[in-house]
Amino acid sequence: MSKKENIVIIGAGLCGSLLALRLAQRGYKVSMYESRPDLRTTDISAGRSINLALSDRGFKALRLCGVEEKARDICIPMYGRLMHDREGNTFASSYSGREGEYINSISRGDLNGILLTEAEKHENVTIHFNTECTSVDIENTVAYFKDYNTKEEFSVDGDVIFGTDGAGSALRKSYYLERKFLFSYSQNFLTHGYKELEIPADTLGSHQISKEHLHIWPRGEYMLIALPNLDGSFTVTLFLSYDEGEYNFNNLTSEEKITEFFEKEFSDALELIPCIKDEFLNNPTGALGTVKCSPWHYQNKTLLLGDAAHAIVPFYGQGMNASFEDVTVFDTILDEHEGDWGATFKAYEKARKEDTDAIADLAIDNFYEMRDHVANPLFKQKRKLEMDLEKTFPTEYFSKYSMVTFNEEIPYAEAMKKGRAQDKALLNMVAHHDLDVITDLNEVLKKVQEETNEILEED
Ligand code: FAD
Repeated sequence: MSKKENIVIIGAGLCGSLLALRLAQRGYKVSMYESRPDLRTTDISAGRSINLALSDRGFKALRLCGVEEKARDICIPMYGRLMHDREGNTFASSYSGREGEYINSISRGDLNGILLTEAEKHENVTIHFNTECTSVDIENTVAYFKDYNTKEEFSVDGDVIFGTDGAGSALRKSYYLERKFLFSYSQNFLTHGYKELEIPADTLGSHQISKEHLHIWPRGEYMLIALPNLDGSFTVTLFLSYDEGEYNFNNLTSEEKITEFFEKEFSDALELIPCIKDEFLNNPTGALGTVKCSPWHYQNKTLLLGDAAHAIVPFYGQGMNASFEDVTVFDTILDEHEGDWGATFKAYEKARKEDTDAIADLAIDNFYEMRDHVANPLFKQKRKLEMDLEKTFPTEYFSKYSMVTFNEEIPYAEAMKKGRAQDKALLNMVAHHDLDVITDLNEVLKKVQEETNEILEED
């Protein structure tokens, strides 16, 4: 394999631009095609600032590519959740009992811009914007495109084609349509969708609520969350059913009903969202789904990465982190198999699939946890116990959340298995009032570890 060979990447989002950067650093010639305009020069956010929670798995990949510090410069640390009840009372819950473990709010557009700029610094990378891939002939590694500037249609013959074109991947569709191999595919939508709103900065340009927290208004059937932006605003996301319950996206169609819903359920937030009616009626409603598929590759010719291979619901804040981790794992596999794309793709998928399936399932679990359980007294007690254990035994006890979010060396599948067993053990203890009897934290830790091991052995 010659490093000069032509690598085609479809989709210059978060995963594609990081992959392009890494492959360029390794000496490959990369041509990347993106359906949207260049987000560094065109405002494609419809006036909204969209942010994401970036954590340790994401940072590890950014570090590998030499862009960690650039990303950290535009991060806002969030040390825990701040829950808002219907009466406007708040209570905080840390993400970790250990010092220095927090998640970060980062602008999707700014981070993507950094990655594009870093990739473009390499003369062996060319990025074509406004160019949509319409299909891929996977057998002959030819990708078909439409250029929205010139309205021309053209094809590109790559030696290898990567699909990092997100949840609606054109490469993945071609796997299905071409029927060259047995391709398994599932897409499961939640009955809930999401809508982004905004809490603007105050008149001094400052944040109106704590910027050190990810804010949650958990209401069982629905949920509002808010993440801070550098300009003093918050991006607020409402998760709501399309058609179930008293209030849903299908019936919230009048200004009166929207106001009634927010006054009743989120009155403290309503005071902070001045353009609620306008935003609610005009901002799009997005669907939330999980995509699982296999295989991700076709022979030595094509490979799916990021959301194109494994789109997940956003409730663990891990979709981007997992997509970045794809690049870390791929890079390690490339070290072992460089020169043989077929072996590289096969080994990569074998190493990665179990973990991306696990984070997909964990993200669904967290939907219910954030929506319902965070306000439940048993859950609160369990979470407090976990924080005490992490504080007291920082090198011995790691909650499921910590393993997933802050322990990038623990694969997702392992974090899920151990974390779920640990959660069961802790909830058993809390529900059975064991803590009335066992007050020494050393004893508590011992019992949790023993019960966790028993549960793991039973499974
Ligand atoms: P994308 O970001 O979707 O990028 C795909 C790119 O391909 C886009 O630029 C697109 O324009 C382009 N493209 C698509 N089709 C074509 C085509 N046919 N031809 C050419 N180009 C094409 N993750 C986190 O880690 N933390 C969070 O807090 C978080 N919050 C989220 C909140 C919400 C509401 C949602 C929906 C997702 C969230 N995620 C979060 C998940 C995260 O957004 C995705 O996992 C991440 O964007 C995946 O990156 P990607 O590059 O694989 O796909």
